[in-house]
Amino acid sequence: MNVKKHAPGRKVAESLQTSTDRTRGPGPSGATPAEVLKERLDPAADSEAYGDMALPSSAKYVIIGAGIHGLSTAYHLARELKARGKGSGADIVVLDKTGIAAGASGIACGVIRNNYFQPAMRELMAHSVAVWESDPRAYSYHPVGYMQISPEVMHEGCASIYEQQKAIGYESVFVEGEKDCTAYMQGLFHDWQAKNITSVLHEKKGGYANNKRSMLGLAGKVESESVQIISGVRVTGFQYGAGAVTAVETDQGTIKCDYVVVGVGPWVPQIWTMLDLPQAISIKGRDGNMHHNVPMWKFWCLEEGTLGVDPQLQRTNDGKMPPVIHVDTDAPLYSDVDGSLITDKMWGIYYKPDFSFGGVQGGAAPYPVDTDPNEVRVDPYGPESPEYIVGKDFAIMWVSALAHCQKRFSGTFPKFRSDEPSGGLGAFTPDAFPVFDVFRDNVYVIADSNHGYKMLGVGALVAQEICGESSRLLEPFRFSRYAEGRLHPVSKSPFPWS
Ligand SMILES: Cc1cc2nc3c(=O)[nH]c(=O)nc-3n(C[C@H](O)[C@H](O)[C@H](O)COP(=O)(O)OP(=O)(O)OC[C@H]3O[C@@H](n4cnc5c(N)ncnc54)[C@H](O)[C@@H]3O)c2cc1C
Repeated sequence: MNVKKHAPGRKVAESLQTSTDRTRGPGPSGATPAEVLKERLDPAADSEAYGDMALPSSAKYVIIGAGIHGLSTAYHLARELKARGKGSGADIVVLDKTGIAAGASGIACGVIRNNYFQPAMRELMAHSVAVWESDPRAYSYHPVGYMQISPEVMHEGCASIYEQQKAIGYESVFVEGEKDCTAYMQGLFHDWQAKNITSVLHEKKGGYANNKRSMLGLAGKVESESVQIISGVRVTGFQYGAGAVTAVETDQGTIKCDYVVVGVGPWVPQIWTMLDLPQAISIKGRDGNMHHNVPMWKFWCLEEGTLGVDPQLQRTNDGKMPPVIHVDTDAPLYSDVDGSLITDKMWGIYYKPDFSFGGVQGGAAPYPVDTDPNEVRVDPYGPESPEYIVGKDFAIMWVSALAHCQKRFSGTFPKFRSDEPSGGLGAFTPDAFPVFDVFRDNVYVIADSNHGYKMLGVGALVAQEICGESSRLLEPFRFSRYAEGRLHPVSKSPFPWS
């Protein structure tokens, strides 16, 4: 395998100027913005541009994974080190077995919201939203807002989210009662018709970002801080001295290091095993009893897809691009294709018009993968996977749900992009909330339990912690919470991440 190094300050930063600015012409190489973007995110094409480079024999900080967390940590750590006179980005190397955005961050729907039932998650998300807002252009961020539209069983929970959003100064509107919810929604979309909706939480901040473009923007920032991003290098193990990691072993050689950051998304169970961490844990439940032998990891498969209509079809009554819509309801769902009952249980969907996906894009609740996590084939990942992509059942359910919510989607099933595989795996912790913690004395594991594209700010907080400053926002996500029974409250949403 070739080692591809993204040299500091070179092409990512250059290509950004062309790839994120649709008004410009071809980039420095004569390529159009779309071509530059494709090349930078394609490891094979990228190797031609960068050539083969030797792996450094040592680096103070090794970050594994060029996804949202690895890159955000690299960028913020470089700046923290510089600001504190403790070093610079030249002390940091990011390794990725494939390349920038090759994992979940590169296929994420890109939704950015605050709406969480757990106070600790909400505070953390408010921090991340501020980071997205700090450079919307580079992060390809669209602050269109976000709506949680819910049935009576979720009413009380959503009311408490609204109250707590007020308390932390996160702007939102809360509408209650079936009649008022319908009126509010029809004020936005004349064809709104979803049933059994008794609360609407309209977050004025948040929205979505374009997955690969935002990652390229972030990589440009990382490289402008003189960090090396090296793709085509797979971490295979660790060397230890007195309990701490002294070197990272890869399929291209060994790198001695002082500190390791792990941001490997759905591959985290593999690195967890390499670190010799427990496959099963004990958890103190809400009842005060200890529950032993609970598997540390579980995979879920996320189901998403795109309806190949003109994204403009989903404009609001006043012609604007709409907020991201998330609907949960217990109204029966009937097929828009043949009228048959799809489900009479609670269901949920989310969707947004998205030019980069070329239509209205979104998803539904994921399903748990029952295979032993050590046996799950994570590679090839995402759309390349032969197993973990959506099928016709998802397409019918999701498009029928769109039609249940808005009449304009009725009859559009033939436009579902069944020719483009979509969906992907996520690795979940026992309580489906993130673990941000240090293991083996000097290994910082960022295991976001699949909440994480929106968590751009976590890397900034992790960087502060690496520099010795404990973060109040990350504290509720320590591994010790399981043994100590400091668990997060659980919502009534049908999604494992709300
Ligand atoms: C279909 C789908 C839709 C999603 N939509 C959203 C959304 O709308 N909003 C949201 O907030 N979240 C969303 N998520 C969740 C979110 O994408 C993830 O939580 C987040 O991207 C994880 O980021 P990461 O940096 O931890 O990992 P990743 O982005 O997966 O990056 C990990 C990187 O590590 C590399 N790697 C793995 N193993 C090794 C190794 N041994 N050596 C070297 N490199 C290695 C991989 O090549 C990869 O590039 C979605 C997830 C999926 C699957």
